[in-house]
Amino acid sequence: MSDDPRRQVPRTDTLLADPRLAAAGERLGRSLVKGAVQRVQQRIRDGELPPGEAVGAVLAVLPGTAGSLQPVLNATGVLVHTNLGRAPLSEAAVEAVVAASGTTDVELDLATGRRGPRGEAAITALLAAVPAAEAAIVVNNCAAALALVATALGAGRELVLARGELVEIGDGFRIPELLASTGARLREVGTTNRVTLADYRGALGPDTGAVLKVHPSNFVVRGFTRAVEVAELSSALAGTGVPLVADVGSGLLRPHPQLPDEPDLQTTLASGADLVLASGDKLLGGPQAGLVLGRAELVQRLRRHPLYRALRVDKTTLAALEATIRGPVPPVQEMLAADIGSLRERAHALADRFRAAGLDAAAVDTEARVGGGGAPEQPLPSAAVSLPESFAEALRRGTPQVVGYVEDGRTLLDLRSLLPSADDALAAAVLELAGG
Ligand SMILES: *Cc1c(COP(=O)(O)O)cnc(C)c1O
Repeated sequence: MSDDPRRQVPRTDTLLADPRLAAAGERLGRSLVKGAVQRVQQRIRDGELPPGEAVGAVLAVLPGTAGSLQPVLNATGVLVHTNLGRAPLSEAAVEAVVAASGTTDVELDLATGRRGPRGEAAITALLAAVPAAEAAIVVNNCAAALALVATALGAGRELVLARGELVEIGDGFRIPELLASTGARLREVGTTNRVTLADYRGALGPDTGAVLKVHPSNFVVRGFTRAVEVAELSSALAGTGVPLVADVGSGLLRPHPQLPDEPDLQTTLASGADLVLASGDKLLGGPQAGLVLGRAELVQRLRRHPLYRALRVDKTTLAALEATIRGPVPPVQEMLAADIGSLRERAHALADRFRAAGLDAAAVDTEARVGGGGAPEQPLPSAAVSLPESFAEALRRGTPQVVGYVEDGRTLLDLRSLLPSADDALAAAVLELAGG
């Protein structure tokens, strides 16, 4: 029965010993290659594949890297897209990550050979960029920063917070629920649309752990509204010993001329906040991180709290953060600054290339957004290439993978969320589908 396919299935050892598969095993790990071998053997057993093609079939299904996360071109027009990993790192930050990813001096002073403060260079960079801060620490993300603050300053005590700032950030993440989970009691003041200084004053008492202000990031309340600004609140708290903590969310270090409504760390501290919290991977344009800056004594309390050890970041995050702050302008900032004229030029150039390949393509004006909960009311003028609707799905599965969006029956590839250096790769992905 020599034509019984089961007898002809090449043995696992034989396949793994093939020089091409052995080389793949060195690069990707033997177990990953073995898994692919076993799937191919099954296809041969099922009569789907001639035994002689086993090695080629294994090579065809092996991934490019041992990790399965894929680089994706973000043509959604949302600069900080949480589902696409938020801020893309600058090349300088990527180099810093690679340099730090082996054995590195993250917690050792090489001059003396003694233990040094962890991540000191990233902290120094943060403090240089935000001179109103006396001290800083970095934790896993802004949610972790809130959890640490609520635990260290509010557990068993009260956190005073305006009702209009009981925010849900996204994917069911509700800040009040996070705060309450730490054992802090929330003392809500004001109404959904209005809160006054008297409301805050009336809530202060011997149990007050901190007053918290949370930037409502992804929505605005309009009409009959009233809020109490940091400066006003800080004056009212002067002499009470109650710290004022401001979660500004999006991570701008300084005011941004294009985003006048977005709070920044320097201004918020200079206005009197004792601590400010922000994300590293939104408008700052760096790695996922939670930044905590402010008065030295409070930062020190957080650093000494046992929970800090559970929330601290790794060496690659510290490296990327330092390079983002000290290095060249990160991609998110570059995208934000792109002028509409150059975006339109890129859209026209791409549309011309696609039409030359026989595609139904056009350059169109669009509105992009910051995303990630930043500047929700501020559309950014942008330009896109428009293609037939079926391209959206095909491009998501293409090489490289591209995520655009569908509007009025057309696929739009917005160029503000891509750097110009990605245009050729975008064109290649589209032209591949055109068969060109
Ligand atoms: C985005 C955001 C958070 C959550 O930040 P992560 O870094 O994603 O944990 C918290 N607070 C505000 C105001 C935000 O905008």
